[in-house]
Amino acid sequence: MKLFLSTDFEGTSGIVAWEQIIEGNPEYEQGRRLLTDEVNAVITGAAEGGASEFVVNDSHHYMRNLHPQDLAGNATLITGRHKPLYMMEGLDASFAGICFVSYHGSIGAEHAVLSHTYNPGAIWEVRINGEVVGESGINALVAAHYSVPIIFVSGDAVTAQEAQGIAPNAEKVVVKQSLGRFAASNLHPKVACEMLKEGATRAVRNIHMMQPPQFKQPVSLDITFLVADMAEMALWVRGVEPVAPRTVRIVGENTLDLYRSFVTVVTLTRALVDAR
Ligand SMILES: [Zn+2]
Repeated sequence: MKLFLSTDFEGTSGIVAWEQIIEGNPEYEQGRRLLTDEVNAVITGAAEGGASEFVVNDSHHYMRNLHPQDLAGNATLITGRHKPLYMMEGLDASFAGICFVSYHGSIGAEHAVLSHTYNPGAIWEVRINGEVVGESGINALVAAHYSVPIIFVSGDAVTAQEAQGIAPNAEKVVVKQSLGRFAASNLHPKVACEMLKEGATRAVRNIHMMQPPQFKQPVSLDITFLVADMAEMALWVRGVEPVAPRTVRIVGENTLDLYRSFVTVVTLTRALVDAR
């Protein structure tokens, strides 16, 4: 049984500041250790539940946060950027399940530590079929395309709640309670890892109860940007339509194509953020 792990960073217990999760800061090495332990706890627990093969896609920032030799379960590591399927690079129909590890709340969520949706410098809000979604909901587009269920989600309480719509039966492990965007009450890493391990074991054992995410067709994806320039630039991508000065829409039936267009828009609008 093969599992796909998409690993972010903000949802790790003990992480409350960008300095802990961005390369070049003294605190980054400590953050990286905390993340690695959590990823390994998920792999170890999933292996106990019966999973035998693991592909980990490092999905945070420059996507080189995990070191291959430190991973448990002889996991394959997808590392570095740029990847066409970004946080979901490597997924295909051969996987039995997906784990979202160390995920975080969407930009705009209340009491969500380090909340953002892909790019905090560009994206104000994302909606799928009218509902506000975070990264778990957007990434579910790829899961839906390949018909692979999301079986496990970890992060703060907001992350667990936001994943409810796309993966109601997934095992949700809450390792911290956010008090704001830069503060949280964190479980001791040992306690967090024990919970992650047990949760992953349960997720694999209950995998038969998990369904791939489903979206009502045709799917519409609305992106609202911080400024109108970004929305205007997004219109350069084929299939992107204007909705309001700061909002664009992509509509389609193929959820993989939709996600690809989203990634293109995110990458393109980064140019305007960097130009600031
Ligand atoms: Zn993220």
